[in-house]
Amino acid sequence: MVGASVAGCTAALLYGRAGLTVTVLEKARDASAFKGLCGHFVLGGTEAMLRRTGLWDLMVGAGAVAGGIERWTGTGWATPPPDAPEAISLRRERLDPLLRAVAADTPGVEIVYGAAVDGLLTGGGRVTGVRTRDGREFRGRLVVGADGYRSTVAGLAGAAVDTAPNNRFGMWAYYKGLPGASTRIWMLEPDVAITIRTDDDLTMLVAFPHKDRLPQFRADRATALESFVAALPDAPDLSGGERVSPVIGMTDYPCVRRDPTPAPGLVLVGDAALAGDPQPAVGCGWAFRAAEWLAAETVPVLRGDRRESRALAAYRRRLRFIVAHDRLARKAALAGPPDAVQRFLFRAAGGDPAVARRLYLLSMRAVPVGDVVNPWFLGRAALAVRRAPA
Ligand SMILES: Cc1cc2nc3c(=O)[nH]c(=O)nc-3n(C[C@H](O)[C@H](O)[C@H](O)COP(=O)(O)OP(=O)(O)OC[C@H]3O[C@@H](n4cnc5c(N)ncnc54)[C@H](O)[C@@H]3O)c2cc1C
Repeated sequence: MVGASVAGCTAALLYGRAGLTVTVLEKARDASAFKGLCGHFVLGGTEAMLRRTGLWDLMVGAGAVAGGIERWTGTGWATPPPDAPEAISLRRERLDPLLRAVAADTPGVEIVYGAAVDGLLTGGGRVTGVRTRDGREFRGRLVVGADGYRSTVAGLAGAAVDTAPNNRFGMWAYYKGLPGASTRIWMLEPDVAITIRTDDDLTMLVAFPHKDRLPQFRADRATALESFVAALPDAPDLSGGERVSPVIGMTDYPCVRRDPTPAPGLVLVGDAALAGDPQPAVGCGWAFRAAEWLAAETVPVLRGDRRESRALAAYRRRLRFIVAHDRLARKAALAGPPDAVQRFLFRAAGGDPAVARRLYLLSMRAVPVGDVVNPWFLGRAALAVRRAPA
């Protein structure tokens, strides 16, 4: 396993629980390293998986804040429907070391730090292991690339890559002393704003504006972020708050999809396989869920009970769930003129709670795209539009 973060640690602990032996190679020097460039808001579609694996309770125990998200769509607020799965937020400085501790405590799992992989070992027409920058070699029956957005492993294997533009950038900071703030998203077309309640009684203020606004943010990030948030409908009151972190973010983040099974003996998971637009906050959830799918499909191979080619084909089929969502997200990442279909659906949600519920579940990545993009649902939405308030 290359990479000890969300995807790598989750897959490793599941292989370990299945009685297998896993070596996780991590280029960071120790377990406290974490990914700074992440909003760590894990959507509700991942709740069931996190509960199944016991990670949910551990995250809550580490201070994570769980709940729903209210959505501003230009016509008013949509609130989370009853019984919808909950999202969860734990800063990566806590989440990453927690996942590493859980993985390392699992019998059969070893994490090796300071092991930056820069070569693949091959033999008999398949990938048989990896080499680290300092010349160590590790061999195994399956090599998993869980090494993130810029995946070295994928590059070494020559995995096919499909990229798409992202016309928004992202900037955020953490604030203390905003007791009235809640977890909310403003879909302002083309700009998006998000406030996230998280551990340690912090609120994260996030701006995902169109790139047209970059000069304003480059001039003075903190002032630009705060005036962006202050101008929102029903904006949180920042007057009693204190910014307790620098304003960080990214200015260009193209969407990437790679062939997840680029060579016999090698498979990719998490961002290494697919890293979409950060704005809808999907990446950690996809990494958790894909890691579970990968382990479910490949454990029988590693026990000698199933053909590898069948297992990897099954893993690819499971990833179709993510790819279908990613197709919609890529369209949204263009931040183009207001999308008529999206407006129609938002309007329909106002006229029928069942439509509103399904759309919420879609936004939480809790249902497949096909649950919304089908004639029955669109017909029901059309009836709901007639009943919706103007
Ligand atoms: C601006 C931004 C905001 C985001 N906000 C959210 C959000 O709110 N919610 C959400 O769900 N997702 C969000 N994401 C996405 C999320 O951060 C990623 O999808 C998630 O971290 C993917 O996990 P991963 O384990 O696949 O990769 P990573 O977390 O990137 O981990 C890769 C690991 O591999 C290690 N590694 C890399 N190369 C090597 C090598 N050669 N050898 C050994 N080890 C190596 C790294 O050190 C790291 O530990 C955001 C992303 C961005 C950019």
